[in-house]
Amino acid sequence: ASAAITVAAGLVLAGACGEDGGDGGDGDDSLAVGVLLPGGGASRFGQFDRPLIEKRLKQVCPDCPAATVAATPEPAVQRQQLEAMITRGVDVLILAAVDPQLLRSSVEAAHRAGIPVVAYDRLAQGPISGYITFDGAQVGRLQGEALLKAMGTKARGGQIVMMNGSTTDPNAGWFKRGSLSVLEGKVEIGKSYDTVGWRPENAYVNMTGAIAALGAGNIDGVLAANDSLAGAVVSALNAAEVRPLPPITGQDADLAAVRRIVRGDQYMTIYKPFKPAADAAAEMAVALGRGGTVGSIATGTVDNATTKDIPAVLLPSVSVTVGNIRNTLVKDGMYTVEQICTPK
Ligand code: BGC
Repeated sequence: ASAAITVAAGLVLAGACGEDGGDGGDGDDSLAVGVLLPGGGASRFGQFDRPLIEKRLKQVCPDCPAATVAATPEPAVQRQQLEAMITRGVDVLILAAVDPQLLRSSVEAAHRAGIPVVAYDRLAQGPISGYITFDGAQVGRLQGEALLKAMGTKARGGQIVMMNGSTTDPNAGWFKRGSLSVLEGKVEIGKSYDTVGWRPENAYVNMTGAIAALGAGNIDGVLAANDSLAGAVVSALNAAEVRPLPPITGQDADLAAVRRIVRGDQYMTIYKPFKPAADAAAEMAVALGRGGTVGSIATGTVDNATTKDIPAVLLPSVSVTVGNIRNTLVKDGMYTVEQICTPK
């Protein structure tokens, strides 16, 4: 399904933020926040990140009526969205870039226009002012470790297929390097595919190819980089009537994936507590929009290709298998037991 694009007319909603006489820099406290996300309503970004960012923005900037949100998985469309926000004069941007390289010149244009950019989840290129993400190396390591555990005796010398994320998403390489740091030297990587734009249909075709090339009985595990790719892997294995399914990893704790884990069709997923990430992004954006600094929100720094020492927050994730769904996803209120256990 293609993007839910919510670039409304009246794109920028400005409101009065902060106290009169506060540290609003130029004395004008009104603040318009633009949020650019890489996926529509069905993705984690639409389902979780977006409402959490909006909620926190309202808390830290009560007089700002709403942020402007634009979402698309299409790199060229996102560039247009970003440029439209610059043209309309937002005060600050939160950007989860579909394709950071392609967007670099637009980030530079934002910078020239005096609009600070907070990179969200995916490291943007160009002069950005802050970065919030989950530790991608840890995500990959957790996936690799879980896969080895699930493979049992095949964890030494067995054969796996790797279904990696999008070639344009820097996180995909980060996850892959993390997984390989655990898997290399232990298992045989029979096939490894990068996907185009994290598209499940792409993963389905690749998995079908892997089954044909390697033989279903010779696939002892599948490192799927996220849950939508895992879903496609399961579909391809089912279509080839592979029984039993090999252990398959995932990421994001999509409801469909959690149900697969309960059914035994997927071994694990990665739970990223989205709230601390969304909170930090909203806090950074408001601080920067008001002309302040973000050193107190950041827990460290990162470099991108152009900018050094970008204040950053790197958050940990949690590995979820059937045994700890209750203690993680249910306990934190992400899903109810009813939601998970209602057949779909
Ligand atoms: C995110 C993952 C997500 C993927 C596809 C990555 O950049 O970190 O959580 O599964 O994009 O949307």
